[in-house]
Amino acid sequence: MLERINNPILQPEENEFDRALRPKTLSDFIGQDQIKQLLDISIKAAKLRGESLDHVLFYGPPGLGKTTLAGIIARELGVNITVSSGPVLEKASDLAGILTNLGKHELLFIDEIHRLSHVIEEYIYPAMEDFEMEIILDSGPSARTLKIQIEPFTLVGATTRAGLLTPPLRDRFGIVLRLDYYDVESIIRIIKRSARILDVPIADEAAAELARRSRGTPRIANRLLRRMRDYAQIMGDGKITPELALLALEMLQVDHAGLDEMDKRILHTIIDNYRGGPVGIKTLSTAIGEDAGTIEEIFEPYLVQQGFLERTTQGRKVTFKAYKHLGLSPIEGQSEIF
Ligand code: ADP
Repeated sequence: MLERINNPILQPEENEFDRALRPKTLSDFIGQDQIKQLLDISIKAAKLRGESLDHVLFYGPPGLGKTTLAGIIARELGVNITVSSGPVLEKASDLAGILTNLGKHELLFIDEIHRLSHVIEEYIYPAMEDFEMEIILDSGPSARTLKIQIEPFTLVGATTRAGLLTPPLRDRFGIVLRLDYYDVESIIRIIKRSARILDVPIADEAAAELARRSRGTPRIANRLLRRMRDYAQIMGDGKITPELALLALEMLQVDHAGLDEMDKRILHTIIDNYRGGPVGIKTLSTAIGEDAGTIEEIFEPYLVQQGFLERTTQGRKVTFKAYKHLGLSPIEGQSEIF
């Protein structure tokens, strides 16, 4: 699907680029001040007491820094981090292998933790609580259980869908932190930091324009910056000027509110096919041809946060602001003004 290829939110990680820009310490990490402060205190306290840090759960939309923070915690604690993810951990033996290899106070990062199977979840509870794991050997009447001791460790979980986590799992995290979209000022700072690292000159106004269109999301800001850098190199003299930034953003079809083609398709579909809503997420997903989970997880939160979309008990409804943004009139009927 074209949107999938072009959409900066859905593109796979661009690793080399990503690695260079990922902040390594808490002081490098821009914005989210309350979260940083809480982590800083918890990390220092754990180190002072010589204990493992409480288990940490990060939740919030993609690209806001959950993985980055997990790496920062490990670095600040001075320990190794092992990275895995919910769908990858299929068998109890996979988990046992990872847990028994963890050193004292080390970190296990599980991305997409809401996608852990129930079986694995059952194994994780005693590991989180008592640092032990019970493995069932053989099956049937000869089944025996084997208790394995694990070094005290910290589980850092990340999820875009906290609501899908089972309550017993959620309750086992001592530190639960919600990452929210960044304000424009913080995104400007992130863009300037990234531009410095990439050694690409960018005008203040261009950075501000880019920031306004980055959906409050560092990952998108970095990706747009990368596109801008290409554009400025080919179409200009390498410097990202406000004029070049505007042209490039137009080419990328990111509008002045940061909405891309998919966002606009969602709003237009609700308006054109369902008179502005309410419409159920499944119906909407079929009409658009995009997975319902992806709409809920990736597109909807920003549209709701920006006041373009409302979630009601009957379904999704576009707001007056959305009509206005699209140049439509809710009273005179849809596309007349367009
Ligand atoms: P998530 O795990 O929430 O999907 P990531 O931690 O992978 O997000 O972050 C996406 C990218 O955004 C990273 O490459 C990182 O460089 C950048 N990033 C995220 N948060 C910040 C921040 N606060 N300051 C600077 N860069 C950030």
